[in-house]
Amino acid sequence: MKEIQKLYPSMDGNALQREELLSYVQTVLTKIDELKDPNKLTLGEMPDYTEDYYNRVIQKANVPKSGVAMEEVIQELLKLVEGHRYVNRNYVANAAPLPNIASIIGNLVMVLVNGNNLWDVEGPAAATAEVEVTSMLSKLIGYDENLSSGYTTWGGQGAVFNSLRLAIARYAPESNQTGVPKNLYCFCSELSHYSLYKSVEATGIGVENMIRVKVNQDHSMDLEDLRDKMEQVIAKGGVPLYVLATMGTTDTFGIDDIEAMKVIAEELECKHGISPIYIHADSAMGGMYTFFNDYDFKSNPLQFEDKVQEVLKSYQKKFKQIKLADSMVFDFHKLGQTPYITSLFLIKNRENLKYVDLDETETPYVGNRGYGSYHTGYTLECSRMGSAMTIYASLLAFGMEGYQELLANYIRVNLAFREKLTKEVSNVAMTNEVSPITTFRFYPEENKWNDEWRGLLTVEEIMEINQFNDEFAEVIGAKRDTVFYGNTTKQRLVKAANSNKRVSVYAHKFFAISPYSTIDEVDRYVGFLKEHVEFFLKTKTISFV
Ligand SMILES: *Cc1c(COP(=O)(O)O)cnc(C)c1O
Repeated sequence: MKEIQKLYPSMDGNALQREELLSYVQTVLTKIDELKDPNKLTLGEMPDYTEDYYNRVIQKANVPKSGVAMEEVIQELLKLVEGHRYVNRNYVANAAPLPNIASIIGNLVMVLVNGNNLWDVEGPAAATAEVEVTSMLSKLIGYDENLSSGYTTWGGQGAVFNSLRLAIARYAPESNQTGVPKNLYCFCSELSHYSLYKSVEATGIGVENMIRVKVNQDHSMDLEDLRDKMEQVIAKGGVPLYVLATMGTTDTFGIDDIEAMKVIAEELECKHGISPIYIHADSAMGGMYTFFNDYDFKSNPLQFEDKVQEVLKSYQKKFKQIKLADSMVFDFHKLGQTPYITSLFLIKNRENLKYVDLDETETPYVGNRGYGSYHTGYTLECSRMGSAMTIYASLLAFGMEGYQELLANYIRVNLAFREKLTKEVSNVAMTNEVSPITTFRFYPEENKWNDEWRGLLTVEEIMEINQFNDEFAEVIGAKRDTVFYGNTTKQRLVKAANSNKRVSVYAHKFFAISPYSTIDEVDRYVGFLKEHVEFFLKTKTISFV
C-alpha cells in the first residue's frame, strides 16, 4: 500500500508531498503556457482529425497493466490539450468562457476536500457556499432570500428540467406516484433553447404538448400569440402548465417580456379558474445582466459611454422583472466566465421543494440525523459537485463592479464591430439588436435584409442566400485558427413571398466572450471577414462564367 499511498495528497500535511503535487501543477501550467500563441486560436498543433480518428482511439485504448509514472500521466494529458481551442481574442464563436483565476482556485479547493453538497456533513464547504451564493444572488435579482432556495445543477438545461419537474409536482402532487397527467402543456418561444424540448421528452409530457410561440422582430416572444395559443389549449380541455421565458436567446439574445407574460398568465388563471401557471426564466444566457439591476445610470459610476449605457438601460428594464418568475438560472460558465459546470438554479419560493423532496425512508444513508441540517434530497443528482465554491470565488473576486465592467465590454465590442463591419462591407446585414452577440448575414449582391424579414423574398431566394452564407461559413471555418466565428442555421424564421411555411435564416455569429476581446481588436475581426468575403465573391463569379 505504500506505493498506492504515493498517489494521494498527504495525510499529515508534510512539505515533501505538497512540493511534489505543486511540481506537477507547475509542469502542467508551464507546458500549457508554452503552447499559447495570441495570434492563434489553438494550443499547439491541431491533431489530424481524419475520418478514422475516433476509431483509431477506440482500437488503441487499454487500461495499462501497472500504473505509469506521474510524469507520463501528465505527458498523456498534455497530448490531449494539443490543438485545443483556447478562448483568447481570436475566439468569437459561442458563449464558451475562459475560466477566471478565482474560479479555478475555487474549483481546486472544492476538489481538494472533495465536498459533496448532497449533505453538509459530507460537504460543509460547498453547502455553506451554496447557501451563501443563493442568498447573494436572490438579493441581487429581487427574490426574498428568506423564502428563496437554490442549488447548483447540470447546466441551464438542468435548470429547465428541474423547473419543469417542480411545475408538474406542484400542479399534480400525486403525479410522483401515479405518473404525469396526459393533458399538460408547455409554452416557449420558437427561438428558445432545445432544453425544454428534451425535458418534455424526458418527463413524458411529450413534444406534441410543447407549444412554440412566434417571436417579434426583436426576437422576444409574441405575447398575443402566447395568449391565443394558451386559450386554444384551455378551450380543448388542456392545462397550460408551464411557460419558458427566455431571457437572452442563445443565438440572438432576444429577451422575453416577463412582466407582460405574468399579466397574461394571471388573467387566464382568473378568467378560467385554473391553477397558477409556472414561469421559468431561462436566463442561462442573459442572467448575468441582472448585475445592472441597481446600476445608477444617472451618476454612472463606471463611466460607461452613452451608447453602451443605452443598451444596458434597456436590459435593466427587462431584467428587473425576472423576480416575477417562479425560478431562474445563472449560468456562470457562460457570460460569468467560470469552468463547466457552474449553474445555479434559483427558486423563488422554497415551499415548492416539498413536492419533489424524497421521503426520509427513501434516503437511508444520508440526511435526517441529529447532525447535519442541510440535505438536498430534492435534487435530481444524488452526489453533487460543489460548484457553488467556484461561483462563490468568482463573485468575491469580481464583485458587482468587476462583472459590470466585463458585461459592459461585451456590449462595447459588439457595438464597435457592427459599426465597422457595416462601414467596410456593403453586402452585409446585422440581423439582431445590439447585445453580447451580433448575428449577421452576407448577400451575393446587395443587402436585402429589409425585404427578407418582411417576407418579400421567395423561398428560393432565401435558400440561395442561406446557401451562400453556409458556403462562406465553410471558408472562414477552415481558417478558424486565425479568428473563429460562430454560425447558426436557424437564427430566426421569416415569411416567404410564395409560401405559407416560414423559412429558417442562416447567420454568422460574433460572440466576443474573452476578456482579451477588446475594441482594439475590432479592426482585425472585420479585416478578416472583409478579406475573405471579397475573395469568396471573386471565386463565386469565376465559377459562374
Ligand atoms: C446555453 C443555454 C441553455 C443550456 O445551458 P447549459 O448550461 O449548456 O446546459 C439553456 N438555455 C439557454 C437560453 C441557453 O443559452
